[in-house]
Amino acid sequence: MKGTVIKSTGSQYQVRLDDGRQVVCRIRGNLRLQDFEATNPLAVGDHVMVELRDDDFSLVTEIVPRKNYIIRKSIKLSRQVQVLAANIDQALVIATPVLPKTSLGFIDRFLATAEAYTIPAGILFNKCDLYTEEIWSWIHELKELYTGIGYKVLVASSLQPEKVELLHAELKDKVTLFSGHSGVGKSSLINGLIPGLGLKTSVLSTMHAKGTHTTTFAEMHVLPGGGFIIDTPGIREFGIIDFNRAEVSHYFPEIFKVSKDCRFNNCLHFNEKDCAVKDAVEEGRIAMSRYMNYLSILEDRDIFR
Ligand code: GDP
Ligand code: ZN
Repeated sequence: MKGTVIKSTGSQYQVRLDDGRQVVCRIRGNLRLQDFEATNPLAVGDHVMVELRDDDFSLVTEIVPRKNYIIRKSIKLSRQVQVLAANIDQALVIATPVLPKTSLGFIDRFLATAEAYTIPAGILFNKCDLYTEEIWSWIHELKELYTGIGYKVLVASSLQPEKVELLHAELKDKVTLFSGHSGVGKSSLINGLIPGLGLKTSVLSTMHAKGTHTTTFAEMHVLPGGGFIIDTPGIREFGIIDFNRAEVSHYFPEIFKVSKDCRFNNCLHFNEKDCAVKDAVEEGRIAMSRYMNYLSILEDRDIFR
């Protein structure tokens, strides 16, 4: 029987079978694992073959090769990685320009990370019920900027059911990863999309720890109209894949495109002569905020080994 891992709790896995039933599984002892060292052999989103047992835990007997996956370091500075989720169709960063305001730096890191994993990505600006006219005009500018680069930009409010309703079309029959700082309304949005789910939501006054998360595993939720949401505890580290500084610009599509015209083919677009990227920034063809966030990744000592 085929199924999808929707929750992992260490040694046990919740699997949704293709017929809609859910079973708790363990892994068969001699299962062949993926060929890199991960602290967890199975991740949310993995497609698996299951041998059903009536008297005991069912067994995962096979993992279907992953279309893609995202990993993070299991502990800071450790080489060991944890697979957060697999087989993702699109990744959305839930952001908000109000309370707690999401920085463009965080958004750009998220988008670049998605590029590194070749996962189509987008931004969902939440809490639009609180936007002033000034904020709306900024959101419209950002929408133009990011759709121009090729990212989906959505605006919603967890408090307005008709806005949440519009999101269903974007998520239908897809596996969508949701990420974001705590407090942006991710749980409220997912609750709005899946009636009866009842995820715990936080009270803003207790939100002193922006960006910290208590959940350590991703979890998958089934959308009533078809498709899945993967709720992640946050993807913050960018240094999880081995890459070098010259590759960072590959994950900023509009910078990468222009970089073909730089004089040096190993140009980092920092202080080199005849840099087409710097010219484009000066002429406004590349947004200053994107360029600055590119530089901040480039200068992040923690990322590169
Ligand atoms: P999470 O940490 O991202 O899962 O955020 P929660 O869903 O727990 O929401 C954090 C706080 O923001 C709660 O107090 C929610 O009531 C509030 N909230 C969530 N979505 C919205 C929204 O669209 N508009 C407004 N005004 N508040 C929201
Ligand atoms: Zn350059």
